[in-house]
Amino acid sequence: MADPRRLIPRTDALLADPALAPALSRLGRDRVKALIVAAQERARAGSLPPDEIVAWVLAATPSSLRPVINATGVIVHTNLGRAPLSSAAVEAVVEASGFTDVEFSLVTGARARRGEGALAALAEAVPGAAVHVVNNNAAALLLCGLALAAGREIIVSRGELVEIGDGFRIPALLESTGARLREVGTTNRTHLRDYAEAIGPETAFVLKVHPSNYQVSGFTSAVPVAQLAGLDVPVIVDIGSGLLAPHPLLPDEPDAASVLADGAALVTASGDKLLGGPQAGLLLGQAGLVERLRRHPAARALRVDKLTLAALEATLRGPLPPVRAALEVSQAVLLERAEKIAAALTGAEVVESVAAVGGGGAPGVSLPSAAVRLPSRFAAALRSRGVVGRIENGRCLLDLRTVPPARDQDLIEAVLACT
Ligand SMILES: *Cc1c(COP(=O)(O)O)cnc(C)c1O
Repeated sequence: MADPRRLIPRTDALLADPALAPALSRLGRDRVKALIVAAQERARAGSLPPDEIVAWVLAATPSSLRPVINATGVIVHTNLGRAPLSSAAVEAVVEASGFTDVEFSLVTGARARRGEGALAALAEAVPGAAVHVVNNNAAALLLCGLALAAGREIIVSRGELVEIGDGFRIPALLESTGARLREVGTTNRTHLRDYAEAIGPETAFVLKVHPSNYQVSGFTSAVPVAQLAGLDVPVIVDIGSGLLAPHPLLPDEPDAASVLADGAALVTASGDKLLGGPQAGLLLGQAGLVERLRRHPAARALRVDKLTLAALEATLRGPLPPVRAALEVSQAVLLERAEKIAAALTGAEVVESVAAVGGGGAPGVSLPSAAVRLPSRFAAALRSRGVVGRIENGRCLLDLRTVPPARDQDLIEAVLACT
């Protein structure tokens, strides 16, 4: 019998194969050549049949980022790219991806304010606030430090010295701007007088940081924004999750409109948490302060690109983004979907589960959900097909709260392919 490895086509033969022509135009010659070499190596190693090389190369995507189905039950999953964009935002990104009038007036033919439409949509969502948009919430805080507090003091409660993830800490970020942090109060309790006593000629602003990924319970006390606003210095509030108005399911999550109404001078937030939009840092508040931020030299280094502006505007003006849909869907609907999915599979059970907001938002909120339960060995097999579930009590759960209903069939097919 011939050694199957001798059946592996040569690189130049594959490059000339008409079946690979679509890949050449879609991915470029260099990438296709690299893929061919990788496929030949797999074939030599015996892990890819030689007659599947062409299909393997054709299946490659332009970037190494693979789309996944988030069946973890964690709505804003940092490792899975946080908020998935709405279909409107996706369409806006595609439209803006070529030449576009992001900073140009088609009426006058002259330069126009960059991202005017997105900024107008944000300003309309929080009436009365001046607005600015930067790369992310960390960038928003950085700009506040640079433009308003370099060489001066920022007063912050010891209960709000937050590590946001991957070892990054808000206090260290603020100190990197040349501002000095003046910590007041204790881990569990900070009072208005702690702030008042710390205010002096060096004070630039008081910062209040929402504890978005942890809870302090027991003997605790923090000062509400409305009281801090009575102090003689600007109060900047990092609300974290990007809610622009109160949400009935998230009573403890601060929102920009309420915090500004309570007297905050500025609010900072992420665009890709509960707002459900692209990665962005939202700055809202007093016109004079926002203008100082906008005019600071570093603002240019923190600005967002046209794709972000397009997606943000479409998120703000468009239909309910997936994050909100996942938050608001009822458990009854999820149980019904789980029943249908389980009925199409063998060895799958429907269970009630508990989903979470995740990603720096509403740490105390648990959302009643529904999941399809499978033996644990499915977890790895499903991951290799781009489906990420979670392991609970030694079983693989596919939590439907974070799966868009339109993907239920894909979920079924992925499980069937693993059996
Ligand atoms: C998530 C979060 C941040 C960081 O926001 P990015 O948009 O990821 O930069 C900062 N502060 C709080 C309170 C957060 O929850």
